[in-house]
Amino acid sequence: MQTITVLGSTGSIGVSTLDVIARHPDRYQVFALTAHTSVEKLLRQCCDCRPRFAVMRDEQSAEQLRAGLQAKGLETEVLAGESGLEWVSAHDDVDSVMAAIVGAAGLAATLAAVNSGKKVLLANKESLVMAGGLFMKAVAESGAVLLPIDSEHNAIFQCMPANYQNLEQAGIRKILLTGSGGPFRQTPLLDLAQVTPDQACAHPNWSMGRKISVDSATMMNKGLEFIEACWMFGVRPDDIEVVVHPQSIIHSMVEYADGSVLAQMGNPDMRTPIAHAMAWPERIESGVASLNFTDLARLDFESPDYQRFPCLRLATEVAARGGTLAATLNAANEVAVDAFLGEQIGFTDIPKVIEQVLNGSDCHEPVNLDVVKVADAEAREMAYQWVARLQRTA
Ligand code: NAD
Ligand code: MG
Repeated sequence: MQTITVLGSTGSIGVSTLDVIARHPDRYQVFALTAHTSVEKLLRQCCDCRPRFAVMRDEQSAEQLRAGLQAKGLETEVLAGESGLEWVSAHDDVDSVMAAIVGAAGLAATLAAVNSGKKVLLANKESLVMAGGLFMKAVAESGAVLLPIDSEHNAIFQCMPANYQNLEQAGIRKILLTGSGGPFRQTPLLDLAQVTPDQACAHPNWSMGRKISVDSATMMNKGLEFIEACWMFGVRPDDIEVVVHPQSIIHSMVEYADGSVLAQMGNPDMRTPIAHAMAWPERIESGVASLNFTDLARLDFESPDYQRFPCLRLATEVAARGGTLAATLNAANEVAVDAFLGEQIGFTDIPKVIEQVLNGSDCHEPVNLDVVKVADAEAREMAYQWVARLQRTA
């Protein structure tokens, strides 16, 4: 029996994780569930999963959840805030932690799980983008087992040899990181300025949270994944090629020195990578339907269009430059996406905000977490100013 904490259990990845867990009551036991402010949803999940702990973002929502649990006669203990998240991630009785909080808000709890040597199922790509060097050093020192949930990284992991150490030792020529191109791959460029948040969140293949959906529409998601892959597999930007593949059936590929290309395929459903990482190195049922090749008929591939997707260009440039710039990029993107979702700025303003913030930021060596946090805070402050400026000129 494995005991698991699900950070961000009320989100898209969280719900898919609980779906896989529910299929295997003999294998997994939920230790803790956490949410930002959705009390009702977390209460329902507590009724179904009976966790020992539940964590809400603030004391007020924690109080509401306590009242709800008491009314139902449940004994789940409710904690609040960052310290609560770290407590349920590092607790001695926990084997695995699903890191599925969105954005920089997930960094501290994910690192707490890493530092206590857990099996860490990493969906929160932002933590690796922000603090990749420190993160991977903590993994090496603690003996934590890091398993990728992001479908591309999970695919790459599945296509690599079990004893992978580095590209050369494994005889790998390059990594092919695939991405669908999102909902605006073929939208006339002149129409992009007018697209709405709901249009940006209507991904053709995947159903996801709103932040990552917008990231997919700008292809910043592929940019963040590019940086994520560099850290996770210990490779240089030159070792990765981005390939646009609109059907999202191939989730990424690895090309070997002999010319062999291994691809991992499946229906676009996050329960596949989740079940893979949860059971690794075993395999379990995920609830995902078989791939129907005759219905599929074709798979298409294109080069990424950097004019249409300036966010992808900015992220690959940052990957090459290194330092705290990735934390800067990530923070500016979070502020810009939030402002777009709140209809303060337009879709094409997102890369403008990020580029201005990058231009105005220094690159430091991320020697410790404080340096990263300062870069993050400074970038947010600058991004708020650019959002305000763009709003005035709109
Ligand atoms: P989501 O918005 O659906 O869910 C986010 C979860 O985090 C919710 O449970 C929310 O309550 C919680 N949360 C949000 N802000 C918080 C805060 N400040 N403090 C504490 N908790 C907070 O997001 P998602 O789509 O499930 O994505 C989660 C993570 O997984 C992201 O990092 C995303 O990039 C990554 N990811 C998601 C998918 C996908 O298919 N959804 C695929 C690959 C990677
Ligand atoms: Mg992905």
